[in-house]
Parts: sequence; structure tokens; C-alpha cells
Amino acid sequence: DPSAYLVEYKNSLTAFNAAKKDTIEGKGRLNNLISSALFEFLGGKGIPTHFIRRIDDTHQLVRSVKIVPIEVVVRNITTGTLCRRLGVKEGIRLPRPLIELCLKDDALGDPLITEDHALLFGWTTTEQLQKIKEIALKVNSLLSEYFLPLGIVLVDFKLEFGTDGEGNLLLADEISPDTCRFWDRDTNDRLDKDRFRKDLGNVLGAYEEIWRRISGKR
Ligand code: 5GP
Repeated sequence: DPSAYLVEYKNSLTAFNAAKKDTIEGKGRLNNLISSALFEFLGGKGIPTHFIRRIDDTHQLVRSVKIVPIEVVVRNITTGTLCRRLGVKEGIRLPRPLIELCLKDDALGDPLITEDHALLFGWTTTEQLQKIKEIALKVNSLLSEYFLPLGIVLVDFKLEFGTDGEGNLLLADEISPDTCRFWDRDTNDRLDKDRFRKDLGNVLGAYEEIWRRISGKR
């Protein structure tokens, strides 16, 4: 079926544009379980996604899309490259969600771009960008509300979008502790890939904890 792809969730882990690499047994399975649960949740709330179903521990069936070459980052709390780039303090809750666009280009290190760059170089259209931003903000409020009762603060995350054969805009890629920052509401413990990026240890334990709380809810 040319309109469907099989996605494999791998155990490999990269950071800083693949300058840092590792493999953690069991990480692919956890990300597949977490990402499947979140795509199902968002789909049920009316967000158009590429997700069809989870096939097994490490595979998902998804609708094939042509990826929009823009990474959409939504931030609720300051951290990461935002603080490094602008010198702002970490841990400040923003008065409203901040959207950033990056060009999806590993060779260039996914550079931050403006909306004008995205439009003038034809990476998206005015209408598509409007929809992308609307969906990204909706995903942010849905996921923030989803995680709060689980004692998890959604700090920031990255989304990717694509268009299917009929031109529909779909949320694609994955939504997991690899692509989101999750902080424990009570302890501020990092429950995401920052454990790997910053050598905090127990990476798998953090991913397991996210899945434990999600599966408890389900
Ligand atoms: P930052 O720009 O602070 O590194 O990342 C902001 C948010 O987007 C974090 O939740 C981070 O996980 C996610 N993110 C940004 N770029 C990428 C990327 O290229 N790959 C992945 N997996 N996540 C990204």
C-alpha cells in the first residue's frame, strides 16, 4: 500500500545534531508506546495525524506524507537553546506559548528561521503556516492538560508536519521524550532526552516513568 509507511522506533539516541550518540536497549519500544498513545489521544481530539495504528513493540503504521521541511518548536517554559541563544534565565514560565521555526536540515544544524524565510524560500505557504501554527498551539494545550494530572509539566516540544496524497496537512514524525521536555511537577526531575544530553543518568528510567504514568491513566 503506497499510502502507508511502517515506522520503526529505534534504540539509538542522538543529541547536538548527532555529535553525541548512544544506544539504549528498550528505548525504541517505550517511545513507540508513548508516541502511539499520544497520537491516539490527539486524533481523538480532532487533530489530523499520520498515525494509523501501532503494529508491535517497535513499529507503527502511518499514512505516508511529504514532510514540510520545518521543525516547529513550542515552548511554555524557558530552557535549552532558547536560553543559550538569548541569554535568558532557565525555568521562566512564558506569558503565552512561544512558537519557533527551524529549517529541517541536519547539515546546517536545523537553524532557527523566520516566517519570512519559510515563505520566501517556498518551504511552506501562508495558508499552510497558519494551519501549522494553529495545530501546534492546539497540541500544546491538549498535551499540557493531558500531562498535568499525571504530575508532568510539558516544558517544550518539537513537531513535524506533512501533506498526504490528497494535500491534507497531517501531524507526523513522533511525540516522545526524545522530542518533548517533560519535568516532574513536584521535583522538577527531567523525564526526557535531557537526561542523555546532560549526562544526568538513568535515561531509560525516565522514559519508563513517562510510560508508567500514561499507561496508568489509560
Ligand atoms: P531546543 O531547541 O531547546 O534544543 O529544543 C526545544 C524542544 O524541541 C525540545 O523539547 C527538544 O526535544 C525538541 N527538539 C528540537 N529540535 C529537535 C530535533 O532536531 N530532534 C528532536 N528529537 N527534538 C528536537
